Amino acid sequence: MSAQNETPMLSLTDVSVVYGGAIQVLRGVSLTVPRGWIVSILGANGAGKTTTLRAVSGLLVYQGGRITSGTVSLKGHDITGKDPSANVKAGMAQVMEGRRIFAELTVDENLQAGSYTRKDKGEVKASYERVMDLFPRLKERNKQTAGYMSGGEQQMLAIGRALMANPELLLMDEPSLGLAPLIVEQIFEIVKTINAQGTSVLLVEQNAAKALAVSDYAYVMETGRVAKEGTGAALADDDEIKALYLGGESLHTSFRDLKSYRRKREMA
Ligand code: ATP
Repeated sequence: MSAQNETPMLSLTDVSVVYGGAIQVLRGVSLTVPRGWIVSILGANGAGKTTTLRAVSGLLVYQGGRITSGTVSLKGHDITGKDPSANVKAGMAQVMEGRRIFAELTVDENLQAGSYTRKDKGEVKASYERVMDLFPRLKERNKQTAGYMSGGEQQMLAIGRALMANPELLLMDEPSLGLAPLIVEQIFEIVKTINAQGTSVLLVEQNAAKALAVSDYAYVMETGRVAKEGTGAALADDDEIKALYLGGESLHTSFRDLKSYRRKREMA
């Protein structure tokens, strides 16, 4: 962790996003990733978590989306509406939901593709060595066609490919989705290691318990807004978070729904 008063790695200030010129999905989202921190975004399906990542990475335009107001800043520079390759050059990389690797290419070829913005061969080699150290499985299988590997190995490859851009900020969209519990453990351990090596992380996760356990800070989104925020430890201990996301009264999908249920229960 680093001091919070230095220029943050990433900040969003009052960001609103509209899809297709009409559907407003983000409504004034503000969040900060201080340098060296792991920050998570939690929330139910459709809350706007992926859209927030797209607003940061610039991938929004490919989905017919647009930032209609607010600012996105990377290391103090305004990057609002910049395109994805400019953002990669500026220091970020994204691991997209669903492990979008190139299935017909080998592990090595996938990793090469991740370094497309970089010219210095020595630095690219150093990133490759870092990925091989982090993922011994990929080292063993570096000539294997990616599409034939297990879900966990493909997720490792997706993370490895993002690291080949040597990002200062890593954006991760649901890295644990659809993976067996043991692999999920490994993925979160790897997120911690990557962060300990100096990379700031913005993580979108449905697995709230795991995400909060590794996060310095977290935001909970509901219908396009930040509904709650706090340190990972504080949110893991928060009654409403426990009820909504950590088991318990999990039939409820929003803070508002949960509050009205509890009010009715008290009155009964
Ligand atoms: P999930 O966990 O289901 O991915 P999320 O919190 O990441 O949920 P988003 O994917 O950001 O939520 O979606 C937020 C809302 O925006 C949803 O109602 C979704 O249907 C809508 N949405 C997402 N992408 C588009 C798009 N390309 N065009 C129109 N609406 C979209």
